[in-house]
Amino acid sequence: MSVMRSALLVASQNKWLRENAVNYPFVRRSVSRFMPGESLDAALDAARGLALRNIGSVFTNLGENVTDRAEAQLVTQHYVEALRRIHETGMSAEVSVKLTQLGLDLSPDFCFENLEQIIQKEKQDRLVWVDMEASPYVDSTLAIYRKALQKYQNAGICLQAYLYRTKKDLDELLPLRPSIRLVKGAYKEPPEIAYPKKQDVDENYFALGQAMMAAQAGGRCVRAAFGTHDVPLIRRLADHATKTGLAKKEFEVQMLYGIQREEQERLAREGYRSAVLVAYGTYWFPWFVRRLAERPANLWFMARNLFAS
Ligand SMILES: Cc1cc2nc3c(=O)[nH]c(=O)nc-3n(C[C@H](O)[C@H](O)[C@H](O)COP(=O)(O)OP(=O)(O)OC[C@H]3O[C@@H](n4cnc5c(N)ncnc54)[C@H](O)[C@@H]3O)c2cc1C
Repeated sequence: MSVMRSALLVASQNKWLRENAVNYPFVRRSVSRFMPGESLDAALDAARGLALRNIGSVFTNLGENVTDRAEAQLVTQHYVEALRRIHETGMSAEVSVKLTQLGLDLSPDFCFENLEQIIQKEKQDRLVWVDMEASPYVDSTLAIYRKALQKYQNAGICLQAYLYRTKKDLDELLPLRPSIRLVKGAYKEPPEIAYPKKQDVDENYFALGQAMMAAQAGGRCVRAAFGTHDVPLIRRLADHATKTGLAKKEFEVQMLYGIQREEQERLAREGYRSAVLVAYGTYWFPWFVRRLAERPANLWFMARNLFAS
């Protein structure tokens, strides 16, 4: 992992920066590249624009590590309301939640109750996605996801290709007929548990992706989605999908709002399932700094915003 990436991932957890940096206009201007606004209305507007280009949306209300029960319940109610608004528009949008925002640090049972309230409000043919957070949360997140899957089919989980354990996690989930979004992984993890080299992460991603597609074809994975902006990797996976006879509509790529827009549109135009994760909310600092860490060149973009102020 590069020194810059490590430094940014440490900064993403800094309380002082989180409380103060967000007030600088150039930081606010920079984050607007990755999120359409702080409100649900802004996210709905963005989703309408994406829908015109045949691109679906996945909404996420930014926040993590909530330690107050009332706040976790408010987040839950927010998602219930977001689903009501989404259904009202008739758009094909879903939601993706972080379990630590639903109270995982307080109690797994309380967190499950909150997740369950959200899933119960989602339509049967759409998913409530569960994000995967830093490695100390992987076991508890998977345990809650398994519990949810025993009661509801319409829940999906994110798995991270940088973790050595993910192959085993995938194998253990498949008998439950899960839906999986595969990502590379966004947190600072030690080499004892995660591949330190990008090339190894990419190869593991490809191997896991092949296994997911085989499971999908065999009816053991309801939906397999690839959450990545890595265009050569997407093409490799799409070629594999074609060779194995997977229909284009069954091959799904999810990207973040504002990143690789041309590729999002190309996939939708060519008949693949293309979706964009639309983030919104006021608690955006740690999430934004993880986006900078993914591509330190984004710092230049932020510097340009500083000099434009
Ligand atoms: C829909 C979605 C959901 C996600 N959910 C989770 C989650 O639950 N848990 C988790 O740990 N991670 C999550 N991530 C983040 C993920 O783990 C990666 O950190 C992120 O996607 C960057 O990796 P990459 O696959 O795009 O590949 P990379 O190899 O990092 O990037 C490939 C190329 O994409 C472009 N790119 C990538 N990131 C950026 C950026 N921030 N700004 C500009 N260009 C960029 C660059 O051109 C780069 O060369 C999610 C990502 C997506 C797209």
